[in-house]
Amino acid sequence: MSHAGDPRAVRVIDAHVHIQPWSQLKPEVKARFFGGREDGAWLESLPHAPDEMVRYLDRCGVERAVLINYPSPDLMGFDDSTNDFVAGYRDAHPDRFIACGGVHPRLTPSAAAARKAMDRICGRLRISMIKLHPPHQRFDLDGYQRGNEALAAIYEKAAEHGVPIMVHSGTSVFPGARSRLGDPMPMDDVCLDFPRTKFILAHLGRPLWGDHAFFLLRRHKNLWADASGIPPKTLLQFFPRLAEVADRVLFGTDWPSPGVKDLRSNLEAFRALPLPEELMEKILYRNAASLLGLPSAR
Ligand SMILES: [Zn+2]
Repeated sequence: MSHAGDPRAVRVIDAHVHIQPWSQLKPEVKARFFGGREDGAWLESLPHAPDEMVRYLDRCGVERAVLINYPSPDLMGFDDSTNDFVAGYRDAHPDRFIACGGVHPRLTPSAAAARKAMDRICGRLRISMIKLHPPHQRFDLDGYQRGNEALAAIYEKAAEHGVPIMVHSGTSVFPGARSRLGDPMPMDDVCLDFPRTKFILAHLGRPLWGDHAFFLLRRHKNLWADASGIPPKTLLQFFPRLAEVADRVLFGTDWPSPGVKDLRSNLEAFRALPLPEELMEKILYRNAASLLGLPSAR
């Protein structure tokens, strides 16, 4: 029996949710993030309220959420303590939250420092995913070819710890963001040069580089993608051959980023897409569960 359209009938992992220490945000970024939102005050309270966040996930029919964090002190305002923040938050409900953190590839002074930081966050803090954000951290994904040794160390250490790296792709509208660096094509080099590392391309290159993202996904078996940050209604227009790479696509909302009002309506719109139920279940849960080593049975 098909349950298409009923968000409670399937298990769901949202691979891309932003719960970050909002108090660190620069004022102009904060205005862009929360400006004009009726739920702004509630959103700002969530970093201190993991129980409330679980109630929200329950209301939305989401079993687990990956909480995306990364240092970006000069552009967004987040410093390295964002890793401690997300690990602590995860510990409040480890069965519901998956911690994603990061090491800054431009501001980390050496390969040794990057290795040490990766060992700390993947080891002691048990971070399950690393996020890299070229437009917000202003670095080239293939910069390891031109002397960025910290970046190479991050790629290598992720493989050693068995932790996937999520890479932002596509534009960003925050003040100061370098959208040129959101072109995913350098991942062609990265996936070849670091074959043991598993990468996740966030946002499928939206809105400019969907064809680049599709090529990369077909070519590299160590590359996954999340479909977050694209209105589900227009996803198949933007990325028409999604079904061909559905074994390595993860559902995600990017909530509460600008334009993503509500997690539940996003999920319902996704469930309404004309995709076979088998692919739907893979994208909504099974692909992420196997990539992150979660139990696949309840
Ligand atoms: Zn995001």
